[in-house]
Amino acid sequence: MKLFIMAMCVAISFSTAAQKQKGNTNKQAVILSVDKHQAELVNLSDQVWAFAETALNEHQSSKVLADYAEAQGFKVTRGVAGMPTAFIAEYGSGKPVIGIMGEYDALPGISQKAQPTRDPLAEGAGGHGCGHNLFGAGSLGAAVAIKEQMQAGKIKGTIRFYGTPAEESVGGKIYMAREGLFNDLDVCLDWHPDTEIAASTQSSQAMVDFIVEFKGKAAHAAADPWNGRSAVDGLEAFTDGVNMLREHVRPSVRMHYAIKAGGDVPNVVPEYAKVWMWVRDSKRSGVEDVFARVKEIAQGAAMIAGVESKITIQTGDYELLVNRKGAEALQKNLEFLGPIVYTPEEIAFAKKIQEVQGGKQTGLDGTIHALKETAEHPAGGSTDVGDISWIVPEVTLVATTAPANTAWHGWSVVACGGMSIGHKGMVLAAKSLGMTMVDLFENEQLRKDIRAEFEQRRAGHVYKAYIPAGPPPIPTAK
Ligand SMILES: [Zn+2]
Repeated sequence: MKLFIMAMCVAISFSTAAQKQKGNTNKQAVILSVDKHQAELVNLSDQVWAFAETALNEHQSSKVLADYAEAQGFKVTRGVAGMPTAFIAEYGSGKPVIGIMGEYDALPGISQKAQPTRDPLAEGAGGHGCGHNLFGAGSLGAAVAIKEQMQAGKIKGTIRFYGTPAEESVGGKIYMAREGLFNDLDVCLDWHPDTEIAASTQSSQAMVDFIVEFKGKAAHAAADPWNGRSAVDGLEAFTDGVNMLREHVRPSVRMHYAIKAGGDVPNVVPEYAKVWMWVRDSKRSGVEDVFARVKEIAQGAAMIAGVESKITIQTGDYELLVNRKGAEALQKNLEFLGPIVYTPEEIAFAKKIQEVQGGKQTGLDGTIHALKETAEHPAGGSTDVGDISWIVPEVTLVATTAPANTAWHGWSVVACGGMSIGHKGMVLAAKSLGMTMVDLFENEQLRKDIRAEFEQRRAGHVYKAYIPAGPPPIPTAK
């Protein structure tokens, strides 16, 4: 692998961009720092992978990351924004202030060993099917590298690592955003495990997550049904209405629901029913239009059934505001580092997973993809990083930690995240994000250009968190 990277460096050393990167001793120092701490970062990631704690129960996961930051000399504040598993680790002082986010929550029920065939590590337990074990440790590795350059007097300003819990449920970042914890940042960075390497230029979907409840009146279903008012009738009328609405929304809208309570037995008129629903669209304004109609459908359904309805918003994400200027800076650093080279064993591991899951056996994609045009409508999926991107310019990386043609949020991603395939993606993320932070600290013009693009895209919109008052309730550990 080393030989290949050296050959790559020789091949591109004639371009001025590459020479500039090579000549930047702070970037070289960042790369060396990540190499120096690599075993510790892998260890942190593997610990979080094994804990596999789900949203807001990431007690051990946040502790190992916060403890490590503290041991490295960061000032650590734990339990921010009313969430015991959220924390901030900061080093340095004054401007600029550059932030980097790390996640560490797992998904329920997809526990898996680091092997290419299905076998749970602990039956029924959680698993890192979105690679957040790598996300947290990788971002912290980049922050530590910058801190060491500050300590050496080479970089001036403040580096701040955000330990952001519960991405997979309530969106911990939104609670931190509402507290104003991102307001003084110049730029924020993040990355996400993926099946390819790219400086991201794509948005994500805006969404709202809410509960609709119907309350009726119980009665004997045979003896006196005329005295009853069925909450399930209300629920059925509601879902009928939603499914009629589907024909009259834009193609970018997605609506999905799960029925959480729908009566207990047939011979009692059910007095309670509950449906959990999400509405998504490419922009928050689109989500709000559809959500307004869904609220009316709930009222109408309640009238049909003679019951009461209630809607409770649980959370909501903004769409991600792309920052191409920031992505361009990250792209140069990715190109300097060059592709990830995999061993034959790693490729065989990936192909085995693809074979087991019935996908095309393409192996792993370690190439650095060129910057893509920003699509008008993002691919399906939402993230609470979207909210942060409306407060501060956001630079996002995606890096390969698993093969394509397999189910994301599935056991195969867990398997790869607990072995060298995942580790290699994490190390690339730590280096490329660390190098990009060097650019951001050193280059005032770059910060200005990034800010100008951000202001133009934000167009004066004032961020408002889409969450209920107070801290999120802590769910029972799964
Ligand atoms: Zn994720």
